[in-house]
Parts: sequence; C-alpha cells; structure tokens
Amino acid sequence: MDLLARVASAPIRDRWLQPLVRGEITSAFCMTEPAPGAGADPSNLRTTAVRDGDGFVISGRKWFSTGAGRASFLVVLARTSEDPRAGATMFVVDRHAPGVEHVRDVETMGPPLLAHREAELVLDGVRVGPDAVLGGVGEGFRLAQARLVPARLTHCMRWLGLAARALDLCRAYVRERVSFGRPLAEHQLVQQKLAEGASAVHAGNLMTLHCATLLERGLDKEARPYSSMAKNHVARTLCAVLDDAIQLHGAMGYSADAPFERWYRWARAARIADGPDEVHTVVVAREVLAGRLELLV
Ligand SMILES: Cc1cc2nc3c(=O)[nH]c(=O)nc-3n(C[C@H](O)[C@H](O)[C@H](O)COP(=O)(O)OP(=O)(O)OC[C@H]3O[C@@H](n4cnc5c(N)ncnc54)[C@H](O)[C@@H]3O)c2cc1C
Repeated sequence: MDLLARVASAPIRDRWLQPLVRGEITSAFCMTEPAPGAGADPSNLRTTAVRDGDGFVISGRKWFSTGAGRASFLVVLARTSEDPRAGATMFVVDRHAPGVEHVRDVETMGPPLLAHREAELVLDGVRVGPDAVLGGVGEGFRLAQARLVPARLTHCMRWLGLAARALDLCRAYVRERVSFGRPLAEHQLVQQKLAEGASAVHAGNLMTLHCATLLERGLDKEARPYSSMAKNHVARTLCAVLDDAIQLHGAMGYSADAPFERWYRWARAARIADGPDEVHTVVVAREVLAGRLELLV
C-alpha cells in the first residue's frame, strides 16, 4: 500500500485502487496514441488535460490500451504543459464517465490475453476533479518510467516461463521422433537449437534476477538500463525459441495441433509493446557510451 499512498489521493485509493489490488476490478493504461501522437516516443503526447476550475478537462485519442474495453477505470497520460520533462500528468478516469467512448477493440495477430484486447478510445471533454491526478501535476513521464521498469520484469518472467515450456516440449519431441535412422535429438543441428535456446533463457533469467535485485535494493534509476537489456533480450529469446520450436516440430509445429503458432502470434508483440527493441537498444547503447554499465556483477 505504500506506493498507492504516495501516488494516489484517498478517494482514488478507496474507489479504484483498493478494489483493483483485491482483484475485484481491472484497469487499463492509456499512453499510446495513433500517429502523430505518443508511441515509441512519449514526448509526441497529443492528449491534453486543460485546467477547468479546480479540475481538468481531458481530450484526445488513445489506442492499444490493453483491457480498456472491460476496465473499470483508465490511467490516462495527458499533456498539461509544453515542458519537455514535466509536461505530462497521469489521471485516473472512470471508464464509463461522460465523454469516454470505446471506439473498438483492435484486431491483432495475437490471441487475447485473459480475454483482454487492445482497445481504441476517444476522450472527448472528459471532466475529472483534482483528486484524479496520480502523483502530482507534471509527474506523468516520471511515473510512467517508475511503472515501466517493474512491468518489464513481470513481462520477462512470463516470457521466460513460456520459452522454458516450449523447450521442454521440444526436448520430449526430439527424443521420440526419428529421422534418417536416429532420433532428432542425435542430430547436431537439432542439438544446437536446444543448446542456444537454453543458454538464452538462462541468460535472460539472470538479467531479470539482477535487475529485480537492484529494484529490491531501491536502486530504481540504476535498474533502468538493465531492465531495457532484459526486456530486449528476453523478448527476442522468446520469439527465437518459439520459431525454433515450430521448426523442430515440422508441419505439426506450424499447425494448430501444436501450441507454438498460437504462442508465437502472442509472443511477437513482446518486441513492440512497452517500447520496441530499437528504443531499448538505444537506452543500453547510451549507458555503454557513458561508461555507466557494470557488466560483471
Ligand atoms: C499487444 C500490445 C499491447 C499494448 N498495450 C499497451 C497498453 O496497455 N497501453 C499503452 O499505452 N500502449 C500499449 N501498447 C503500445 C506500445 O507500447 C507501442 O506500440 C510502442 O510503444 C511503440 O509505439 P508505436 O506502436 O506508436 O510505434 P512507433 O512509435 O510508430 O514506432 C514504429 C517503429 O519505429 C521504430 N522506431 C521507433 N523509434 C525508433 C528509434 N529511436 N530508433 C530506431 N527505430 C525506432 C521501431 O521499429 C518501432 O516499432 C501495446 C502494444 C501492443 C502491440
């Protein structure tokens, strides 16, 4: 509850955040906007929140807000000034407030996760009170960063679990299936796929663990580039392991008789959501160039 107490007003905690933590309702995070708005570069933010009396009026369009169609409330990032660092504010918005329109659920290549789809929303003059501000006015970009680091790690944990499961299924299959007079497991090119997959999963696990340790020690700022490194590595590992799993299972791997094609369609988003590969690569490169990374921990 400490974090909730720090960032949210008492009415927001009572009405929304406590039922959320108890698992009674769901929420959605609304940062991304159609071009030319916020995406890989959040500073393109176009949704505005204009002061009106002691509250704000929010207007804009958001999309790819996972679960927004069924959410009880939205966390909306909106522009409150032109300040490049302190120009954004996060608001808690009732999903059913006047002016919030759920335009559609966007069809994607992946199956929905826990029945949540990526939604497109219009916010048309949505009125919120001063209590709706999370943290403080101008804190939006900072809070987004604070949220994204642990969020990336929870993605990594799920993705590593899925990659490990895929490797398990591959191991079982290649020991049974015979080609050219011996089990697939005895062909060295097959062994290479398994060895590379296992090594990449293990490396991703250590990166995730290291970053989580920094967070646990309160070193949030130091953890940021390591979270980019882990997110990048694990997302690519998951896609590569699933691609190899399809290959190792042959035609069955490509079919809906095996789980891999469905998992791959879901996994492909990992290289885009919460920042595409390239943006995380840029973050890591910046830290390398500045000599700020400790690679041997
Ligand atoms: C399944 C899924 C769920 C999502 N859930 C949410 C959510 O709940 N809430 C939310 O707000 N958003 C969500 N998103 C959106 C996601 O965070 C954005 O898609 C992501 O930040 C990229 O923004 P964009 O799609 O606008 O890509 P753009 O900003 O248009 O970028 C397009 C491409 O350009 C390239 N690129 C961008 N910048 C650089 C650079 N500096 N150097 C080199 N190449 C670059 C990358 O290849 C990038 O993929 C989700 C996306 C997906 C796919």
